[in-house]
Amino acid sequence: MQYPEPISKLIEGFMRLPGIGPKTATRLAFFVLDMKEDDVLDFAKALVNAKRNLTYCSVCHNITDTDPCYICEDARRDKSIICVVQDAKDVIAMEKMKEYRGLYHILQGAISPMEGIGPEDVKIPELLKRLQDDTIQEIILATNPNIEGEATAMYISRLVKPTGIKVTRIAHGLPVGGDLEYADEVTLSKAIEGRREL
Ligand SMILES: [Zn+2]
Repeated sequence: MQYPEPISKLIEGFMRLPGIGPKTATRLAFFVLDMKEDDVLDFAKALVNAKRNLTYCSVCHNITDTDPCYICEDARRDKSIICVVQDAKDVIAMEKMKEYRGLYHILQGAISPMEGIGPEDVKIPELLKRLQDDTIQEIILATNPNIEGEATAMYISRLVKPTGIKVTRIAHGLPVGGDLEYADEVTLSKAIEGRREL
């Protein structure tokens, strides 16, 4: 059976999202039909606003609605230390912990030779440029504890160590193969506390 066009368009839209197959997309589309019109409008507006009003911070590459972002702009933060993470969602996880007061650098991915992602495809050149600033004394490599995350940490460490900046890697204890963003606050806090110098 063919669905009327507005519904099939909606199903197609949902199917463009990651991890959503035809079955889930159809379920979501029919759910939207049952929603109140105001709620649907709010949702549609949120989608458009997120796309239109968000950008990446030109300093740390975090997702933001102001440039530089509020973390880079915050005078109370420790500018001598940069925590390097893969994803903007990792910053949220770190900030929830409320113990880290330094800056961030968001790579927007990790090196993955298997997928053809090299150092130039993530924000590594931008990181190296930031490190030319004398105020930076330490970088904490908080990439994910999986093959890509480890390879990325090793790559950055090899380039940065000769500059004399202290390079540390968050401690293990994070679930191997897991993502930083899913770690609970206690685990994450311990991983930062127990970081070791590379
Ligand atoms: Zn920033």
